[in-house]
Amino acid sequence: MVPPGQRGPQPGAAGDLAALAELDEAALLAGLRERFLQQHIYTDIGDILVAMNPFQPLPLYGREVSERYRRLQTDALPPHIFAVASRAYHAMLGRGGGGPRNQCILISGESGAGKTESTKLLLQHIMNLCKGNSQLEQQILQVNPLLEAFGNAQTVMNDNSSRFGKYIQLRFQKNIVQGAKLSEYLLEKSRVVQQDTGERNFHIFYYMFAGLSSEQKEMYGLLDPSLYRYISGRFGTQEVTECWKHKYQEVRNALDMVGFQEQEQVDMQAILAGVLSLGNVTFEPEESNGPVKVSEASQGWLKAAAGQFGVQEDELLKCLICTTSVTRGEQIQRFHTQQQAEDARDSIAKVAYGRVFGWIVCKINELLAENVNPEVELREIGILDIFGFENFAVNRFEQLCINLANEQLQHFFNHHIFQLEQAAYKEEGLPWETITFNNNEPILNLLLAKPLGLLSLLDEQSAFPQATDKTFVDKLNSSFKGNLHFQPARGHVLSFSIIHYAGKVQYAARGFLEKNRDTVPANVRGLFINSVTPLLSVLFTGKSLCVSIMSQGPSWRELSVGMRLMCFTSGSARVTLGMLQPGVVLLASTISRTGTLMPHVKTKVIPGADDKFNSTRKQSAGAQFRHSLMVLMERMYSANPHFVRCIKPNNQKEPGVLDNQVVLLQLRYNGLLETIRIRRDGFSWRPSFEEFAERSSKTSEYFFLDIIWEITPITRYGQYGILLVKPGAPLTKERKSRLFFKYWHQEQLAKC
Ligand code: ATP
Ligand code: MG
Repeated sequence: MVPPGQRGPQPGAAGDLAALAELDEAALLAGLRERFLQQHIYTDIGDILVAMNPFQPLPLYGREVSERYRRLQTDALPPHIFAVASRAYHAMLGRGGGGPRNQCILISGESGAGKTESTKLLLQHIMNLCKGNSQLEQQILQVNPLLEAFGNAQTVMNDNSSRFGKYIQLRFQKNIVQGAKLSEYLLEKSRVVQQDTGERNFHIFYYMFAGLSSEQKEMYGLLDPSLYRYISGRFGTQEVTECWKHKYQEVRNALDMVGFQEQEQVDMQAILAGVLSLGNVTFEPEESNGPVKVSEASQGWLKAAAGQFGVQEDELLKCLICTTSVTRGEQIQRFHTQQQAEDARDSIAKVAYGRVFGWIVCKINELLAENVNPEVELREIGILDIFGFENFAVNRFEQLCINLANEQLQHFFNHHIFQLEQAAYKEEGLPWETITFNNNEPILNLLLAKPLGLLSLLDEQSAFPQATDKTFVDKLNSSFKGNLHFQPARGHVLSFSIIHYAGKVQYAARGFLEKNRDTVPANVRGLFINSVTPLLSVLFTGKSLCVSIMSQGPSWRELSVGMRLMCFTSGSARVTLGMLQPGVVLLASTISRTGTLMPHVKTKVIPGADDKFNSTRKQSAGAQFRHSLMVLMERMYSANPHFVRCIKPNNQKEPGVLDNQVVLLQLRYNGLLETIRIRRDGFSWRPSFEEFAERSSKTSEYFFLDIIWEITPITRYGQYGILLVKPGAPLTKERKSRLFFKYWHQEQLAKC
């Protein structure tokens, strides 16, 4: 099927694993191993790209390589991440048939497998394809380093592990990028206050210590880094510190380049310094069993935290040591126990950091929003870099959300690979024995069904003040009795198991209700709204609205979250920002990215995926996640997908080493074994008619077809036909569709 020496069917030499003759785990592994040891880290399975992490810099991504992969047809070149970018870009423009269409690239793999590096390479190549070298393209390239500083951390799995998921949408008019939009999923906020052995807090804290001058540190009230509990004991060697210093400068440059104001950057760092100081506040009981108080030794830290947050010290203290509620107009204060005070401290730190991160994303969206006539249609390429399936010693609410996302993505993958594949064959009249695949719909139902799915039951319990994690587990046990994908725990352990597509995971239910409620106590919100640090006040007033903006025409344009809206009028009344409600139609003037004023555009406020802070009724964490996942899936189902499966060759992060067990497990989780079977049983090579003709005119090739179309000359041999194309022979009969080919091994040729 393929020209000798290019992508031939021999395992090892094969760029395309769908061409393997023996299709089992061992052969697949051997194929990947052989290629990997020759530093061929990229391998195709049909149009899915497998990317092995080399754990060393390889000369694969230079300008000249990028140039080579610019073209529409990259089939004759070795598999490469740039080829995926080129395919998506050209397909978005409608080149190669099919009309212009939105594209999405799904990158999956476990922690440290290379998803984020792949994302960056895709962006780099796509920006190179646009070739405008505009300021916007440079800004887009800065987004990743910026997000990494605030959202990545060193873990045992990966020195630069992304602790959030992201979807980047690049928006184009024709072949020119006009804007970008970012969505983030589930930042691991708990890392701010606690890290496991061998792990670190988010990079930015270390960069700040290494990069700030002594005067700046003084301004932020920062002392020696070893003093801070939230990062203590995890500071680096001199060499590492030098690297962090450099990184700090990079972050500041990226902030400048993307367009963050100086004052915003100062405020942001003040909040982070405040978080660190807050972490050092400790408590002790006033007298035995009495109300809690801040320990004598940490009074200074409380003062420092209040100073950096720009709030009154006694107000901050109140939020830490007691809960205030109002009953029949009367304020009631309930003092915390020591544990409750520590929890309050940590939750304030987490929410402050989480809001800063959310704000950075909003701000990036504002600054990179496209500034084009909303009448003109935009096309987009979306890139999803999201956590892979997780199964740890202890799995919590976060793991459940992550694994739910993976179930959804697996379902999308199945839908695409199996169902669309089948539909395409049917349309072409190609033979297709109905194949079976591991349909995970029942698991999605177990998690998402309304009103009896797991998330709904969790919401029901969360809304019920007397409910506990125990009543939640009891509820699950009774509701899912006999469900094949659910297993109650033995004995009285507070846990349950779900049989996911990738295996059984046991979840510890402790903390589920609280995490799902995700409430910021009213007094904490009030505290920060009144902060004299402008940014902190903004973060808690809930200006992050998702707004749609309508021009004179019928089309709605999404206004990115947090975009500055000015001069609101609804009818004759002026409306202030804080009063914006979903559904209100307003007249607004907006300032676009470049600072131009777009006057009097009719605006309707709609509750959107990012409208986390402002809903009139607060959504639970589970409901928010479900909603943002739904928005993501909608986008992906309406786009043309490309799949990149990243694989980590070993757990030691060593170059040139492939651990069979480690890789095999990932092949299973990734659904790659199943995929390769489908691909090989099906029609794995689909050139367009033009490509077919072009290639055939250059080489003399034998093509084996399952179906013989009326193309001449053709000789029939038994069940299969051989199409012999002579050099330069014209292919006269036009077909609208693509040609479908099946790979055949040499032995099969001999049989014919
Ligand atoms: P996580 O889920 O933890 O965020 P990830 O899949 O995003 O993990 P990356 O951060 O992309 O993993 O990769 C981990 C490390 O592996 C990188 O920091 C880099 O050192 C190395 N690496 C990944 N891909 C490549 C590559 N193509 N070339 C060289 N090194 C790479
Ligand atoms: Mg990552």
